[in-house]
Formats: sequence, C-alpha cells, structure tokens
Amino acid sequence: MGHSPFKRVFVANRGEIAVRIIRACDKLGIETVTAVSDADRHSMAARLATRAVCVGPASASLSYLNANALVQAAMGSGCEAVHPGYGFLSERSAFSRLCEENGLAFIGPSPESIDAMGDKLMAIRTADAADVPRVPGSDRVTSLEQARADAERIGYPLLFKASAGGGGRGMRLVRSANELEQAMISAAAEAQAAFGDNTLYMEKYIERARHIEIQILADTHGNVVHLGERDCSTQRRHQKLIEEAPSAFISPEARSSMAQAAVRLARCVAYRGAGTVEFVYDEATQEAYFLEMNTRIQVEHPVTEMVTGIDLVAEQICIAAGEPLSFRQEDVHLKGHSIECRINAEDVERNFMPGPGRIQFWDAPQGEGVRVDTHCGPGYLVPPYYDSLLAKLIVHGENRGEAIDRMRESLAAFRVEGVPTTIAFHHDVLSDSDFAEGRVNTRWVEESFLARRQAG
Ligand code: ADP
Ligand code: ADP
Ligand code: MG
Repeated sequence: MGHSPFKRVFVANRGEIAVRIIRACDKLGIETVTAVSDADRHSMAARLATRAVCVGPASASLSYLNANALVQAAMGSGCEAVHPGYGFLSERSAFSRLCEENGLAFIGPSPESIDAMGDKLMAIRTADAADVPRVPGSDRVTSLEQARADAERIGYPLLFKASAGGGGRGMRLVRSANELEQAMISAAAEAQAAFGDNTLYMEKYIERARHIEIQILADTHGNVVHLGERDCSTQRRHQKLIEEAPSAFISPEARSSMAQAAVRLARCVAYRGAGTVEFVYDEATQEAYFLEMNTRIQVEHPVTEMVTGIDLVAEQICIAAGEPLSFRQEDVHLKGHSIECRINAEDVERNFMPGPGRIQFWDAPQGEGVRVDTHCGPGYLVPPYYDSLLAKLIVHGENRGEAIDRMRESLAAFRVEGVPTTIAFHHDVLSDSDFAEGRVNTRWVEESFLARRQAG
C-alpha cells in the first residue's frame, strides 16, 4: 500500500472505537475528523484526531444519532468517507444512504445489504434463501391466539424476540403456556421503548447454548473471506462480557459449516466490508443455528485480529476505497488463542449498576501479548450519557491456558480508582474452574457463577 486510500475520514462515533478508528487511519496515512458531543469535547479521540467537530449536545439522540448533523460536519470538514463504528447509526441504512447521497463513502455495506440484514426477521428470511438454518421459530407474531398456536408447534421453552432488537433487549423467556401472554406484553413494551418498534417473533430456546460468530470480510471485487470464529458465550442478560478466538469447545464440522454458511450469506446480499454472522450452538446436539448478522465492526473484533494478524479496521477502510482484499482465504492462518474482557464502569455488587464519575487513578497493564483498547486515562470524567465500556483488555497466548494465565495477570495489574469497574469480577471468572475447563454456556454467569457467589 504505497498510497492512502482516502485523504480524510470522518469518525461518527465516540469512546474506544473512535480512538481505534483514528489509530487505523494514522497507520494508513489518513487525516481524521472526529465527531464530538458537548460532553466529549476533551475526549481522547478529540485529542488524537487531526480535528474534532462538535455535532450537538451530550444527549446521543441530538449528537451521535443526529445523521444530518454528522453528514454536515463530515462535508464541512472536507472528509471523503465516514466510519460509523458500532452502535449509534452503524446499522441504519438511512445513514449509509445519506452519506452516499452526499458524496461521502460509507465505511460499511451498501444500504441494500444493511436492509437485507437490518431487522432480524428480514435477516432470517435472507438466511433461509442462502440455505442457512435458523433456530426453529415463528414469523412475525400478530396476535395472542396465533402466538399460542405457534408456541405449541415450536415447543417450550421459547423466547420472544424483538425483530428490531439489539444489545440483548426485547427478549423474554417463556417456560410454559401460562407465561406466554405476560411475556409477550412485556417483550413488546420493551421493544417499543428501546427501538420504537414492537414487532416480535418466537424462537425455540436453546438451553445449553454457546454463542459462536463468524467474522467475514468482503471487498467490491467479489472476494469474500472468513476469519474464523469467536466464542462469546460468557454473557450476562444476553450481553457479552468475555470473548475468545478460536472457540475451544465446538466440533470441527460445526466450525466449518458455520464459516461456509457465513460466506454464503455474505455473497447472497452482495456484502461489502466487515461483518459478523452470529449463531447459537446447541451443546446437546452440536447443531448451529443462525441468529442474526451484524453489518458493522464489532466490539470484540480484536480477538480475531490477535489470532489472524489482520487489522480489521484498516481492511474496512481499504475496502470502502474500492481496494481489493490484500490476502486470500488460504492466506488466513490462526495462531494461538486470544481472550477479551470488557471492562465496564459498573458496580458488580449493585447488580452491575453503571457508575460514571471521575477516574482518579488509572494504570493499565502492558507487555507482550497484552493489548488495551481504551479512551480512558487518569483524570478522565466518565460521562453518564453513554454506555459504560471503559476499556477492552485483550491478551494473546500460545494456547488457551496461557491466554487465561496472561489475562489473570493483566487483570491483577489493572488498577482503576474513582469509578467502580468489572476488573475484579473478570478476575474471578478467569480463575473459575468451570471457565478454565469450558463448562460455560450463555446462562453460566447468572445461573452458576453469580448464583454461587450470592449463596456463599
Ligand atoms: P457486539 O455485537 O459488537 O458485541 P453489542 O451487542 O455489545 O456489540 O453492541 C455494540 C454497541 O452497540 C454497544 O455499545 C451497545 O450498547 C450498542 N447497541 C447495540 N444494539 C443497539 C441498539 N439497538 N440501539 C442502540 N445501541 C445499541
Ligand atoms: P442481540 O441483537 O440482542 O444481540 P441476538 O439474537 O444476537 O440478539 O441474541 C443475543 C443473545 O441471546 C445470544 O448471544 C444468545 O446468548 C441469546 N439467545 C438468542 N437467541 C437464543 C435462542 N434461541 N436460544 C438460546 N439463547 C438465545
Ligand atoms: Mg447478537
């Protein structure tokens, strides 16, 4: 790569991912303009970017979710492309369309691909067309009577899920017919409040499930590759806490069938950029079922970078500039094992309640095989307006055991004062024999680990 893919890129996000995007641009010789809200005027992203432009007040709905303000700022500052990061507007086709209508390259897929995957029911239909099996379930739930009939066919336990859902919201577990009505009402209400859309569907609930997802990259020259899987089974309330690559506990057949399915699906929607196809893996049957596709960079992308040596954010940028992928499928070799812990400003003892405030002391671990992606440092004021992610601590080892040891040492060395954090919680999880031996599914944190802690 002798030349820069773009001269100047606009960062339509905040926090650690804004910093991550700026660093990738620096490496590629690209100038950056980052959006900031009033609350983020003095953020690390604002300091590291070539320039920062205020796009609105602290409230995300008036700043990082304000598509017109972001596009105006990108155009007014002479940017050629927009990186949406994750969350916020990253999966809104209207935003990618608005960028392109204004001559800005959107660093992500086309609006049509986003729409094909945008809501989950649409994604399930798309997957079906690509011959990628979904969890046994229903189409859109239109009435209680119909829900009851579908539930009998699917069988209990089952989940109500919001078609517009994300971040683990809008889901309700139903164990028996007499819970159905109440669960349906509360799932619809939560979906309406969180996403402005109460469309629900049902899925069979997989009791002993692993969350496995496949990272893909696709360019505009017809090349689609996968970069293996991530295991994100360590979750609380359907939200990821710890992610690993590769998964140490799935069958080789399941691994390759998920990877092939992900590539098929990407081809089916003429996908471009980085994307993730998520599956739920039933430990009892070793079957994998399609859950959804995330049409953006993901929080946990660093574990894939650590085992492949590929810079996913740099690849996203080059793809958006029309460059072909710099490698082929056969060039992808996984090396060792990587683990990521999401360090949040939350009080574990008070039900993981977010605890914004001033960071009085901050000393992050360093060393071989240790990476910290963060926008925080000593004196930083964690604002109350956004999510509570402070840092991602990522380690690499020759094998899973070495990665676990390195993570435990790194967590022990990570010192933060002034705000509550999940560092000690992660250290306890990484020290647990269930975790070490892989006896973890998506319910383990709540039903085993936290339950044992409360009892003891
Ligand atoms: P990933 O799928 O990359 O692991 P998450 O599911 O944790 O990521 O979500 C990524 C980010 O986007 C988080 O900051 C989360 O709070 C936010 N997010 C996810 N879904 C939504 C949504 N529907 N609306 C608003 N924010 C969301
Ligand atoms: P979101 O958009 O909120 O990420 P997902 O459909 O990806 O929604 O589901 C989030 C998490 O919920 C999954 O990682 C998994 O742990 C759990 N989950 C979702 N569907 C099922 C299911 N049918 N059976 C068991 N667990 C599920
Ligand atoms: Mg998901």
